[in-house]
Amino acid sequence: MRPISATMLIFALVFPSLFFGAGQAGSNQAGLVGYSPRAGQNEREWEAKFRAIPDPANLREYMRRLSARPHHVGSPYDKDNAEWILAHFKEWGLDAHIERFDVLFPTPKVRLLEMLGPTKFTAKLEEPALAVDPTSNQKSEQLPTYNAYSMDGDVTGPLVFVNYGLPEDYEKLDRLGISVKGAIVIAKYYHSWRGVKPKVAAEHGAIGCLIYSEPKDDGYTRDNVFPLGPMRNPDGVQRGSVMDFASSSPGDPLTPGIGATPDAKRLALKDAKSLTKIPVLPISYGDAQPLLAALAGPMAPDEWRGSLPIPYHVGPGPAQVHLKVAFNWDIKPVYDVIAKIPGSVAPDEWIIRGNHHDAWVNGAEDPISGQVSLLEEARALSELLKQGWKPRRTIIYTAWDGEEPMLLGSTEWVETHADELREHAAVYINTDGNDRGVLNMGGSHSLEQFINGVARDIEDPETKMTVWRRAQLSKIAEAKSADDRKELRQRADLRINALGSGTDFTGFLDHVGIASLDLAYSGEDEQGIYHSIYDDFYWYTHFSDSDFVYGRALAQTVGTSVMRLADAEVLPFDFVNLADTAGTYTKNLEKLVADKQEEIRERNQEVDEGMFKATFDPRRPTVAPAKEEVPPHLNFAPMQNAVDSLTRSAKHYQEALAKYEENLGDEAMAPNLRLVNRKLIDSERRLTNSEGLPRRPWYKHLLYAPGVYTGYGVKTVPGVREGIELKRYAEAESEIVRVAKALEDESALIESAARELEGAGK
Ligand SMILES: [Zn+2]
Repeated sequence: MRPISATMLIFALVFPSLFFGAGQAGSNQAGLVGYSPRAGQNEREWEAKFRAIPDPANLREYMRRLSARPHHVGSPYDKDNAEWILAHFKEWGLDAHIERFDVLFPTPKVRLLEMLGPTKFTAKLEEPALAVDPTSNQKSEQLPTYNAYSMDGDVTGPLVFVNYGLPEDYEKLDRLGISVKGAIVIAKYYHSWRGVKPKVAAEHGAIGCLIYSEPKDDGYTRDNVFPLGPMRNPDGVQRGSVMDFASSSPGDPLTPGIGATPDAKRLALKDAKSLTKIPVLPISYGDAQPLLAALAGPMAPDEWRGSLPIPYHVGPGPAQVHLKVAFNWDIKPVYDVIAKIPGSVAPDEWIIRGNHHDAWVNGAEDPISGQVSLLEEARALSELLKQGWKPRRTIIYTAWDGEEPMLLGSTEWVETHADELREHAAVYINTDGNDRGVLNMGGSHSLEQFINGVARDIEDPETKMTVWRRAQLSKIAEAKSADDRKELRQRADLRINALGSGTDFTGFLDHVGIASLDLAYSGEDEQGIYHSIYDDFYWYTHFSDSDFVYGRALAQTVGTSVMRLADAEVLPFDFVNLADTAGTYTKNLEKLVADKQEEIRERNQEVDEGMFKATFDPRRPTVAPAKEEVPPHLNFAPMQNAVDSLTRSAKHYQEALAKYEENLGDEAMAPNLRLVNRKLIDSERRLTNSEGLPRRPWYKHLLYAPGVYTGYGVKTVPGVREGIELKRYAEAESEIVRVAKALEDESALIESAARELEGAGK
């Protein structure tokens, strides 16, 4: 029987204090998967003690300290922060050290953007200090506005506006008869990883790329601009990496696949695959407006237009733009801070928790709002250790450096320790920034049930309902259909998001296959300071979680998760939700093929009927699309069969575990326990393939990957999905077979774990 049944859940929601109170006997009341009744009750008592410790005043003080000066990779304060974090871990009695890697980190030497005609204009490329904002004037330490891993370049050409710069935007341009060959494109920020924009532009023949912050997306259209409000002001610029990590690998571009240790064999700069193919520069809307205003040509499609007071034309030209960027291609140190709490029973099983500490500038929101919760968790755990708490497994707390340039510190650490991690790492939990609002849960679906359970035990600071209940009701409010609302009300667990990339779980999940979670509170506050000099203590304490109660909630959520994973006799993985999710993905993929077939058939018919001739306006000429071959049917049977088999073994395992929990605590079972946990640790690895995904072997997970053309956004079952999207149908078909094989292997592993549990004690 599941520890939290639907009726228990209703009871819990009506009488939360009764339900969550300590002192009840029996595994049902303890409600913890993987725990014997006695251990579950004990765990609940320790967790309650833990959750009383995190203090908003500490969170505020850590943030003030860590965001007091700019602390990007290679800066003095980046190292200073790492040492300060280390000193605190040590002061709290944890076994901690700094691990250093040496990575390629370019900083700008030349940045020039000018319009040569029809009017002359030179972009400011500068965020001014503001009198009310005390850290905004630290000019000598601030990195200028730029995109890291743009190549050097000096180009001149006509300007073309390309909306968000995604593949579908170029299809629209084709229909308008506009080519970007030999042009410099200007794209809006958001709707993809920013590195996708220069990648797609270069694939279409552009010679340079500008990316600007459109006020409709994070400026005055949404709220007052900083410092009056939280949004981006006319000079605010979003720095950021444009590394093409999704089609190659994240981390140091000179040491792909291996740790950037001092003796590592490094590629020559010219052989680094993840740099952009064309020069890129980010700009403010203050700098973008004169450039966009100087465009002629067709009007941009409705949905492309922003809220600047100009007509949005596409171009090309007549604006002629000169873009020149050059960088110092230096090797810089990154300092990961690693703290260990050794496990008392199973020290070779690891629970890892991380958040990065580096920022683009002062980075109060990104990443310090997450880092301060991590620190407070570590302090609270060390308090429990002093009171006699002994975690069963080893817990590793990590403060990563170099996340912003592209996951440098975490990726290099994962690559350096890949063999040990494969052997020992059970779960990785990531955070990266935190605000007010609803708990966002992303991760491996074998942890879906687990993290739902944790969310049921955390109180929301504003509504005082559980954060789980608040998340459920928020999702119901946003749901688009009656079916969705029904599922939200009836399914025991809320569905968690599959993970794409853009933060430090990537190496753990995608490269090694370690079950991962990514957690944050968000949704109540707009923000337009991302990666600017205005993301600082002043902004955060005026416009975000200013009393740090959501910082405390995050520490309580993640700390509870860490403890519950570290203390469980049987790791609290569940595969019923994984099987359900894999089934959903299979259906989605079948629908994707059917939708593509329908779309192409329809368009071909429209061409035949002469629809594009009928709608042609000689004053606003468009180009009719070419007829296309209709995609073939694909055989999803291997995946469907594998999902069925996984569903059966997942149910079997769930039943076997429920029976086993009743008998747990018997030391005679210890050998079994080790074996079962070993299999559970391996369960996420079974979803990987050592050869990796097509054309990007670093990415080994067959269910989750960042999309080659989305970056942050996940592509679930990426080999199959991208095969279909990129019209590589034979590849999609062979990927179906590979995914099915992995799901069958997973099913066999879970089945053997179930048998192991049933054999125990007999
Ligand atoms: Zn971050």
